[in-house]
Amino acid sequence: MQHKGMKNRQSFPLIGFFVGIGLLIAMPYSLLAQSPITVQSDVLDDADYPNSVTFRLDVDGTAVITQAMLHYDVSKVSCLDAAADVPVEIEGGTLEWTWEMVRSGNPPPGTAVTWNWTLTDADGNTLTTPPQTHTFTDTRYNWRTVEADNLKLHWYEGNVGPNLLNAAVDGLERLESEMGIELQDEVNLFIYGDTADMRDAVLYIQDWAGGVAFSDYNVILMGIPPSLANTWGQDVVPHELAHLVVAQYGRSCVGGSRPNWLEEGLAVYAEGDTSPDIQADIERGLANNSFEPLRSLNGAFSAHGAEAGIAYSQSYSTVAYLLETYGREPLQQLVLTLAAGKNTDAALEEVYGFNVDGLELEWRAHLGLPARDIPPTPTAINPAAIATIVPEGLPTNLPTPPAAAATAVPVADTSSNNPGICNLGLVPLLLTGLFFARRRHHN
Ligand SMILES: [Zn+2]
Repeated sequence: MQHKGMKNRQSFPLIGFFVGIGLLIAMPYSLLAQSPITVQSDVLDDADYPNSVTFRLDVDGTAVITQAMLHYDVSKVSCLDAAADVPVEIEGGTLEWTWEMVRSGNPPPGTAVTWNWTLTDADGNTLTTPPQTHTFTDTRYNWRTVEADNLKLHWYEGNVGPNLLNAAVDGLERLESEMGIELQDEVNLFIYGDTADMRDAVLYIQDWAGGVAFSDYNVILMGIPPSLANTWGQDVVPHELAHLVVAQYGRSCVGGSRPNWLEEGLAVYAEGDTSPDIQADIERGLANNSFEPLRSLNGAFSAHGAEAGIAYSQSYSTVAYLLETYGREPLQQLVLTLAAGKNTDAALEEVYGFNVDGLELEWRAHLGLPARDIPPTPTAINPAAIATIVPEGLPTNLPTPPAAAATAVPVADTSSNNPGICNLGLVPLLLTGLFFARRRHHN
């Protein structure tokens, strides 16, 4: 029975979305007919997800259970084993343990949890139940799914799925063919009809967030109204997917991180077909000699719309310069060297033989710009995050503004301050919503 259930979930991973209410796995089974312990049901009640979920085991039989241990593990990539063993109090024939996600933060929809129980009776008999798996689902909507290699895209409003999936596939192909960076595991993208719907699926998400990438869980949540699916959505899907793929490829267990110009440059590159917008920004920067010192783009971008815009374009142009001049292997090496814990200057020196200032000078010369005076002793700006170990802890996220907030003050994408941090559970994605929405509408 269990086997059949697992197969069904593989074929129809979102069936839970249609089921609606908790108790998704109700598989009573009798373990060892001769055992004095009989399991009636072994379920995960997720009716209260994302606030909490309850593991519940009903037993009967002649045995007096003296000890119960619940073992559970969520499917995520992390530097530490996230599995947990919880001793559970015994009261009558029902064993229950509630995972209060309000305290820990919730794994996103699409995450699978696997669990089993170990019971000991008064005679010292031990029984370990077969592992069960359940995928956390957002049961508020009737999800539809389209699939491609290693990608599952889920949506419920309009008919945005096929076109957004195409954008995701194109973005992955660019990452692979032009940068040589490949997706490592299947990714689930959940497209909400608006950002408010999306935010209710995740605890502790900023109320202005338009999308979040959980690179440890291979899950991306985005709020894309159907009216923007063929414009903004076509850019933001590959953009956010690139953040996730690069975060996977450059995962660091030693606190390594990528400068923002590299993070965002790669993501904009993955969008493809951005040449008119980018070209306009680059031409403005050339005409006004208004590019930022590249070193200042190691960290978070300016929060101001126009400045943020040129920061993205400058980042893209710098990454494109590296790719087109030196090829994709050194760029991969740069990402891996940063993941190994080197700071930006040291990693660039090791791979290319120049530091951030040297790169900026080469790039400016390539564009025909005059050399910029660079202080002889550059201030070390190392955005490397501290590797905080928070097993199943409060997720840290720095999401970005939603497209729907296009009239609000733009907020710069700051996601790259976080990729690679281990076990924070959640790496932010930046929706550069306002920025792209505006450019689309104005150009
Ligand atoms: Zn971004």
